[in-house]
Amino acid sequence: MGKELIEWPYPIDYNKVNIVDTDVLVLGGGIAGSWAALAAIKRGVKVTIVEEMDIFSAGPAGVDHIVYALDNPCCTISPEEFIEGVGPWQYWDYINGISHYIMYREGYDMLCELEKMGAKIRDTEDEFKGAEFRDDETKLMFAYDYDTKHTLRVWGATFRPALTAELKRQRVSIHNRVKVTSFLTEGGEEGSRILGATGINVRTGEFYVFKAKATVLTTGRGGNRVWDYRGGSVATLPRSSGGGLVMAWNAGAELANMEGRAAGGGDPYPRYGTGNPLNTWYPCTMIDAKGKEIPYVDGKGNILTSFEQRVHPSLLGQRFFLERSYRNGNSPVKRPVSLCHTPKFAEAVRKGEYTLPIYADLPGMPEDERRAIFGLMIANEGMTWILYKNYAEAGFDPDKDLLQAYSGGTSSRYDGSPLVGTKKSGYRSYLGGLVHDWDFKTSLEGLYAAGESLFSVHYHGLAAISGRWAGAKAADYAKDTTEPEIFDEQVEKERERVYAPLNRTEGIDWKELNAGVSGAMRTYGGDTLTDEMLNLALVWLKELEEKEAQELIAGSPRELARCLQSMEVLKLAEMWTHAALTRKASCRFLTISKLEYPDNDPPEWHKFITIKKGQDTVEVGDRPLYYWNKQPYALTYKENYERHKPWGKK
Ligand SMILES: Cc1cc2nc3c(=O)[nH]c(=O)nc-3n(C[C@H](O)[C@H](O)[C@H](O)COP(=O)(O)OP(=O)(O)OC[C@H]3O[C@@H](n4cnc5c(N)ncnc54)[C@H](O)[C@@H]3O)c2cc1C
Repeated sequence: MGKELIEWPYPIDYNKVNIVDTDVLVLGGGIAGSWAALAAIKRGVKVTIVEEMDIFSAGPAGVDHIVYALDNPCCTISPEEFIEGVGPWQYWDYINGISHYIMYREGYDMLCELEKMGAKIRDTEDEFKGAEFRDDETKLMFAYDYDTKHTLRVWGATFRPALTAELKRQRVSIHNRVKVTSFLTEGGEEGSRILGATGINVRTGEFYVFKAKATVLTTGRGGNRVWDYRGGSVATLPRSSGGGLVMAWNAGAELANMEGRAAGGGDPYPRYGTGNPLNTWYPCTMIDAKGKEIPYVDGKGNILTSFEQRVHPSLLGQRFFLERSYRNGNSPVKRPVSLCHTPKFAEAVRKGEYTLPIYADLPGMPEDERRAIFGLMIANEGMTWILYKNYAEAGFDPDKDLLQAYSGGTSSRYDGSPLVGTKKSGYRSYLGGLVHDWDFKTSLEGLYAAGESLFSVHYHGLAAISGRWAGAKAADYAKDTTEPEIFDEQVEKERERVYAPLNRTEGIDWKELNAGVSGAMRTYGGDTLTDEMLNLALVWLKELEEKEAQELIAGSPRELARCLQSMEVLKLAEMWTHAALTRKASCRFLTISKLEYPDNDPPEWHKFITIKKGQDTVEVGDRPLYYWNKQPYALTYKENYERHKPWGKK
């Protein structure tokens, strides 16, 4: 057994097995999981939620903006018009239409429910009275597009505490510090009904058997540790290993877009903690080292001449702006970007038009805008309250001080290279996830999913609305189904697997395995791919699985959990590689660039690739894009929404 340097502060009992019986089991207590549990318990069933951390701080707890809440009373665009505007132009084809549509219909409704739980979603103190982005009647505040008002600025740091208090008030049974490790299935068979899950307490090491009539998977995404891990930390969600997806894979579930990934990582500075013109900071004015303003440009590259053009699509002849400015295609709804975030900027610096470094010019912004960025957005965004506090305590004054932009980029999804000096080093594989229907039911009986466990989703609002919907559906299913009968052999096998690292006296620690996986993936699954390289990745991953993964040692429940996570990262890498090998095409949206198949998204590959675990093999399949609006479903979003929504007519 490995040695811990400090004494473990919790009582350990690896032999204890806790059996928990419930109607609905929610795995992962982040945003989607919390909403799933609340929706389920309201339907009168017994609900248990399991979270690896503490529910109080589970998931990215903060949020500064809620995107595309088109049902808010000030919004001037309908979901149908929005989809039509976005649709033919760019990323929409590969995103998850079901959950996005529901978010458009219910994002604000969800916020109002949250407000009743004690969260702050409007400017009740009139701090921003009279601001252009505020509606004085409802006191709602908007971001990005002040014409159509689809996205709300919110005090998201209040959300997590409100949700946690509500879970307790509703008497949801909460199991904090328990990491789930596998699904329990009927007869222990892959592909059969899900009957619950197993887990270990990451403090005491105790084992858990959760028996459930219905299960909702909301463990979020996995990803950066596949490519980015080097033994230290990774850019975001360092503990996110994609374990839920691996569990689903092992149980035989169908996954889509697993080859999808997003460029990211590599920025050594805290995201949104340096001056920049992106998301949380939009539409901040940027200046160069000599004080010269760096202009914003529209989707066609035209220089914008006024601040108002950054936030009023009508001034640019556009119907609306998207929250982000995806540069793919010729979309007429692109949001402007700062020139410093386009490839032209490096050239302009070379020509001497601008001088590095550059800065966010908060003092040069209109006062309301400045306060909305620094104080509201920066402070409520998931990672920035601590930055806000530290900057304020160190004397930073946004009325007077500039804040330097280091890489300028928090995301390199924009088509330009990020600012000079940035080194793209990794990917976040956040596009893959479970295939599901309009009830958020997966391909496995008894298993529902929501939030970032689904394929091609992102956003707090989406996690919340899909969780709410999936929880309600799972409760209805649980009411109507038989008691689960646990297959003891499956439990015993899992106990043996999870505790194996404790029983070794010599071996390697979890970091070595994770760094090995990431090294393999950066080498063979990097920016430019060939099938041969991907096959080599599989060879390397198999070796890691057969050798290093069998040599992991752990000296405490914490190390044990990390060992299990590293094995999950290894499996996730393998799943990605299989899917990437299957797609014989490049695809810009999925960030797949293949040397042998340079055509971007050719018609024959314009589809979802699905994978699932077969008997000693990988079963590859596909689904048409927009499968959710084809038979056996109704043919429109609206009809499907009305047909499947778990609550009364609105
Ligand atoms: C820093 C940051 C800021 C963001 N800001 C915004 C924003 O302003 N607006 C916006 O719309 N979106 C924002 N997002 C995105 C948004 O937070 C996510 O889309 C959302 O949290 C996804 O919710 P989820 O429930 O699917 O996953 P998560 O919230 O990640 O929850 C998953 C939970 O599952 C737990 N878990 C994982 N594996 C296991 C396991 N094996 N056993 C038990 N528990 C497990 C995790 O600990 C975690 O608590 C932000 C994200 C980050 C990281």
